[in-house]
Amino acid sequence: MLRASLRQVSAALKEGRVTPTELCQQCLSLIKGTKFLNAYITIAEETALKQAEASEERYKRGQPLGVLDGIPIAVKDNFNTAGIETTCASNMLRGYISPYNATVVQKLLDQGAVLLGKTNLDEFAMGSGSTDGVFGPVRNPWSYSRQYKEKSVPKSHSEDKESNWVITGGSSGGSAAAVSSFTCFAALGSDTGGSTRNPAAHCGVVGLKPTYGLISRHGLIPLVNSMDVPGILTRCVDDAAVVLGSLAGHDPKDSTTIQDNFKPFELPNLTDVSKLSIGIPKEYHVPGLSGEILALWSKAADLFQNAGAKVVEVTLPHTRYSIVCYHVLCTAEVASNMARFDGLEYGHRSDMNESTESMYAATRREGFNDVVRGRILSGSYFLLKQNYEKYFVKAQKVRRLIANDFVKVFRSGVDVLLTPTTLSDAAPYKEFIKEDNRTRSAQNDILTQAANMAGLPAINVPTALSERGLPVGLQFIGRSFQEQQLLTVAKWFEKQVQFPMIQLEEVKGHDRDVFQHKKSASFS
Ligand code: GLN
Repeated sequence: MLRASLRQVSAALKEGRVTPTELCQQCLSLIKGTKFLNAYITIAEETALKQAEASEERYKRGQPLGVLDGIPIAVKDNFNTAGIETTCASNMLRGYISPYNATVVQKLLDQGAVLLGKTNLDEFAMGSGSTDGVFGPVRNPWSYSRQYKEKSVPKSHSEDKESNWVITGGSSGGSAAAVSSFTCFAALGSDTGGSTRNPAAHCGVVGLKPTYGLISRHGLIPLVNSMDVPGILTRCVDDAAVVLGSLAGHDPKDSTTIQDNFKPFELPNLTDVSKLSIGIPKEYHVPGLSGEILALWSKAADLFQNAGAKVVEVTLPHTRYSIVCYHVLCTAEVASNMARFDGLEYGHRSDMNESTESMYAATRREGFNDVVRGRILSGSYFLLKQNYEKYFVKAQKVRRLIANDFVKVFRSGVDVLLTPTTLSDAAPYKEFIKEDNRTRSAQNDILTQAANMAGLPAINVPTALSERGLPVGLQFIGRSFQEQQLLTVAKWFEKQVQFPMIQLEEVKGHDRDVFQHKKSASFS
């Protein structure tokens, strides 16, 4: 049952084949059995069971609240949750309990979803590996898959397998790992530069970054307000559409959300892609793109072409400035956002209190890691009076150019862009941490960041396994607020590639039955 889609499990709940409490208990026991993944920071066992009980009552009365009623969901630990700790994986917020729920969390609860817990991330979502949070790195469930073990480690070195585990990507790595290891049916992440799509690609799940303004950010602890969006992680495109439908829409508490009424949609099973124009942006052929991903990308383009779609090369000439531009805009917004953590209002407060100044300084030194402090310093520099025009204003102008490139391409008749999501499959942790956070982000956001600059919807669809037996995904980028079209194309593609199910049978603590896989032809 834990592998079922949202609609399947919802039908099972309605028909009484499983109860919300049983589902919740199964998820909780699997979460405990997979603790070594470090996917969850907080397990909200007590409240989850209460919510499941309440849902059970509704089913008994024949009055479930909708498709999400009784369904266990996990939430990234940078969304505020009333009564449950919200840490942002930082010492600054360890032990912090918000008095209110983020709008998206409230919406899930209002629809009867069961909140299992809060998932791990890079501190304040600054990173691309889920390796840089105070609770330690998240391990990619695929590290423990038969597919990876068979291909990656020479049989004679079997004792080294354990130290060969790979990262989840980030910063929503806990959410991606949670969904990929079947401990929840969907999870919320956030996406500012790629933080939902990147871990989704590395963990073999669907990761949707909606259009900026479609889903409320109220209660999502900000990284870069002008780019942050709540992200949706699920095991299939249909599930992403269900969760999107339950979250989207105007929120009076977030003035950047659209006023239009959003209508939830169902995706068709049969799609005719022959009228579509698929754009292949040539600038996404970046140095460092692995040969196997390049091959997969062109194979995917062929798939569309063979189905009658028009596949055209397009150009997004300013995309190559997105990383450097992001560095300025991100750090500037971080510098101002992080000012709220001063030891007075909430979060950590240092004992060094000879003066207010020294208390501020000590609080921030003790509370933030090097990455956060480094970004505050850079951002403060870019915002200095003598630098503001030169860096911040200029970066905003470049951002506009990057966004305009997309507008031109979509105006020329292209419906959806097809690109890789990541440069390669997931790196082993030992390799990944050799570079610093900034270098890693510069590399890992290169294919995802521009969509955030332009506020466009984008989705990772798991596509194939790499030569090492790890997931690789491709990205579709759509027109603003055209999620329905984007997801329809993504679902068509998902159906063609038949991404193989993870085979986790060897892991101790796992319920073996849960991981029984269906055999399917793989795309690679
Ligand atoms: N890697 C990027 C950063 O560190 C993006 C993070 C995100 O999308 N939250 O800022």
